[in-house]
Amino acid sequence: MYMRFFSRFFSAMAGPRPVVFSGPSGAGKSTLLKKLMKEYDNVFGFSVSHTTRNPRPGEVNGKDYHYVTREEMKAGVERGDFIESAEFSGNMYGTSKAAVQKVQAQNLICILDVDMQGVKNIKETDLNPLYISIQPPSMEVLENRLRDRKTESEESLQKRLRAAKVDMEIGKEPGVFDVIIVNDNLEDAYKVLKSALNEEIDQVKKTNMSS
Ligand code: ADP
Ligand code: 5GP
Repeated sequence: MYMRFFSRFFSAMAGPRPVVFSGPSGAGKSTLLKKLMKEYDNVFGFSVSHTTRNPRPGEVNGKDYHYVTREEMKAGVERGDFIESAEFSGNMYGTSKAAVQKVQAQNLICILDVDMQGVKNIKETDLNPLYISIQPPSMEVLENRLRDRKTESEESLQKRLRAAKVDMEIGKEPGVFDVIIVNDNLEDAYKVLKSALNEEIDQVKKTNMSS
């Protein structure tokens, strides 16, 4: 029943193949995605997730996330508004059907940024995305990046590092991700990312130019 519902939901919205990004918090997903969206704003669209965490300085409600209370989020999940949702580092996160639909309606490649639970749950749907993992060069570098970002309390930082260890192990299992990118030097990682998406980018450019 559940699966049949998702089948109908997504088959009604054929468009370019979405791309799911995952990888440990602090690996550089947002940095790489922002670069990509800036260079190709008419090719990619970001699926704006919901979260119960507080906005970080510079983050914008409705652009980076929809910031909601736990009560609002739970009610949305109960109503069936979400494709997937997960608890991460003490907060709820989720991808709404509306967020994906909004991007796909513009014939753009829908980008999702989700944790490993999101990856697993999306694999149970008919979304059929390309799965890309962004990995840090090492746990030490990851910890330094998270500390230097200065967005996390010590408790949140430790939770994220614990989750990262688990995620990095699962991510190495064959078949989980289509592409694994180690984000050591940013420009090099960005080049690898662009080449992994080259065909999809060309396809969308062609389609959107002729329509
Ligand atoms: P994520 O979205 O995966 O949690 P961010 O994009 O916020 O990670 O990156 C974490 C921190 O590391 C940010 O402060 C960012 O500026 C920095 N960063 C990202 N990529 C690199 C890189 N290749 N080299 C050095 N610092 C980086
Ligand atoms: P952050 O708080 O650093 O923005 O995100 C923490 C983690 O939550 C990251 O691993 C990010 O990929 C993940 N995340 C963000 N949005 C979603 C979502 O909609 N669903 C799931 N499952 N994870 C998400």
